[in-house]
Formats: sequence, C-alpha cells, structure tokens
Amino acid sequence: KKITIAIDGFSSCGKSTMAKDLAREVGYIYIDSGAMYRAVTLYSIENGIFDGNDIDTEKLRKEIRNIRISFRLNPATGRPDTYLNDVNVENRIRTMEVSSKVSPISALDFVRTEMVAQQQAMGKEKGIVMDGRDIGTTVFPEAELKIFVTATPEIRAQRRYDELKAKGQEASFDEILENVKQRDYIDQHREVSPLRKAEDALLLDNTNLTIEQQKEWLFEQFNK
Ligand code: C5P
Repeated sequence: KKITIAIDGFSSCGKSTMAKDLAREVGYIYIDSGAMYRAVTLYSIENGIFDGNDIDTEKLRKEIRNIRISFRLNPATGRPDTYLNDVNVENRIRTMEVSSKVSPISALDFVRTEMVAQQQAMGKEKGIVMDGRDIGTTVFPEAELKIFVTATPEIRAQRRYDELKAKGQEASFDEILENVKQRDYIDQHREVSPLRKAEDALLLDNTNLTIEQQKEWLFEQFNK
C-alpha cells in the first residue's frame, strides 16, 4: 500500500530514526522537514541575515524563493543527505550553532509558507514518510497515518548528548538540555502552525521504550 505518513513531535525524541527505519523497511521516500528549516538557518548565518540576535527579514524574504532544498541518497550511509541549492550541507546543518538558531527562523511566516510548499510538492505522490512539527496539522492534514512523539526533556537531551559525543563533537549536557527546552517553548508558542498534536494523531511517549520496542509499535500501526 502507498499512503502518506506524518510523524510529528518535540526535538530529539527519535522521530527521524523512526521515520527513516520505517521508510527503508516499506520502501517509502523519507523527508526530514527539520533539515529544511536547518538549511534555511545555515543560509541565513552564512549570508549575514542572522547573527543570533537580529534577523534581516527583508533580505530573507527577498531570497527565500531562491533557497531550494533537496534530498539525495548517500550511497555510503544509505540515507538521504540534505542539499541547499545543490550543495551538500548535511554535516553543516547538524551543529549546535544551527540547533540554537533554527527556532526563530522557522517561526517566520514567509519561511514556513515556502517550506510547506516545497514539502507538499515532494509529497505529491504517496509512499512518503515525513517528520517534523506540523506535518499532520498543516503540511499533510489528510495523511492516513499520523504519529505524535513525546519524551521527557531530560531523556531527549541525554540522547542528543550521546549522539554528538559519538560524532566526536564537544557539548555540555546542560547546554543541550537548555536548548531542548527553549526549542520546545518556541515551537509550541509561535504564531504560525505551532507544534501540537493533530486530533487524529496517535500519541507515542517513548521515554521508556527501546528503539526496538518503538519500531515494533510503529510497524504494528503501519500494518493496521
Ligand atoms: O527536527 P529538528 O530538530 O531537526 O528541527 C529543527 C527545528 O526546525 C525545530 O526546532 C523547529 O523549530 C523547526 N521545525 C519546524 N517545522 C517542522 C520541522 C522543524 O518548525 N516541520
């Protein structure tokens, strides 16, 4: 079967691991919508639009339509890499710097309008898993399977800490926890499509689940 699957939830709660595994298993396309907002943030940092304090919204508004995000399979990892105007930015969008600057950029209405349009174009054909914050509410309100994932901020910060450490990146746990909480707050309180569970989404709290248990639950939902 070919359906549209929306996986939404808080940052660092394992959405992307879940979505990637499911997509690979069932032969679907996987789209990480957070990577798209991260790429716009990287663009803003590198082009003097956002220094961490002020956003030059006029400049970004003018340039947003020329920011094209795409995904291409990386044969070495078997997973899609993120491209910003045809340049591979996969590693550069995963830094703490981008993580700490992405929420205000993704709260801008014209940024969301453009990204949602690009996401809807990618999802024209069914057989797609997309993860993010507003996929089930705004991007694909008609998705046949919607999942909303949560976990405590502490466990999410721990997972992000372990992940960065495994990649050899220096990070402090407290800084990550602060970042996780800050992003939760901004994501839930912004004016344009704030993070919230779609009424018809299934709730998954994975605080005490292993990746294996979570996977099992997910396949069960897919096969229903
Ligand atoms: O999922 P990830 O943590 O990589 O997303 C980075 C940021 O992008 C989030 O903190 C959120 O502010 C924003 N985002 C969003 N809408 C989405 C996906 C991500 O606003 N659909």
